[in-house]
Amino acid sequence: MLSMTRFETLIPGPRLTLFGAVHGNETCGTYAIRRLIDRLNKDLSLCRGTLTCVPVCNPKAYEKGTRFYQRNLNRALYIKEKPKDYEDFIDPVLCGLLDETDVLLDLHSYASQGGPFGFLGNSSKEEIAYCRALGVNDFVYGWADAFGKADADPREGMGTVEYARSVGAIATTIECGHHTNEDAAEIAYRTIFHALEHLGMIASGDAETGLAVPAHEQRFVQMRTVFYKRKEGATPQPWKHYDTVAQGEVLATYADGETIVAPEDGVIILPKLQAVVGGEWFYFGVETPCPEPLS
Ligand SMILES: [Zn+2]
Repeated sequence: MLSMTRFETLIPGPRLTLFGAVHGNETCGTYAIRRLIDRLNKDLSLCRGTLTCVPVCNPKAYEKGTRFYQRNLNRALYIKEKPKDYEDFIDPVLCGLLDETDVLLDLHSYASQGGPFGFLGNSSKEEIAYCRALGVNDFVYGWADAFGKADADPREGMGTVEYARSVGAIATTIECGHHTNEDAAEIAYRTIFHALEHLGMIASGDAETGLAVPAHEQRFVQMRTVFYKRKEGATPQPWKHYDTVAQGEVLATYADGETIVAPEDGVIILPKLQAVVGGEWFYFGVETPCPEPLS
């Protein structure tokens, strides 16, 4: 069963949707969204628009404390003709909500060591401004392009934000730090307030955002490649998220001696040191200025 809470101000404004636990073991968003719902039921009000809260998008995975139940809900997010996995039955619910959404904030945490960062959406000027207003310093972008190269069917790479954009919304995923970071839930909570403030949905005196990051200090990494672990192998060192590497540097070595080297100077993104054979191992990107909007 999927539970959601909607706050309808009856005053025209943006329709913001908050997702937590799209991956069941990433609970910072769940905690933050429930905390916000509590506040909105007590002493906080929205001044315009509609807020839809889904604290747990994948209930069975959340119950088990695992990333997914039968398949990754954040890939291949579209309505299936013949649903078979548990997550296939969630697709229509999330897609239906996103069809009626102007702005999506999807809150995650990740398995590597490292701090919070956002997936910058650059589909429009408006989307870039929204992402940069969320109090996050580090961004990666170009996710769909990097995935498009690896997947035969482009829908396979479609997650919550890609689906949201495909139906006209602006959207971002914020990774609030490692799954077990003590402050991940606090970061998620502040991120929501940054979004509400940016969208003019709360009075600025109500914003619990903490100190904002100066825009000139924000960093942008363009995703270039996703590396899957095709066979048994290991990384030469325990890569951390945002580690910088030089062109030609060995990123990983397979048991049979084959190596993966950095195609150019760049940055390691979201390494999963415990990746299973066939799974996503790490991503590779390069640092750039803030990208221009695509439209
Ligand atoms: Zn996640």
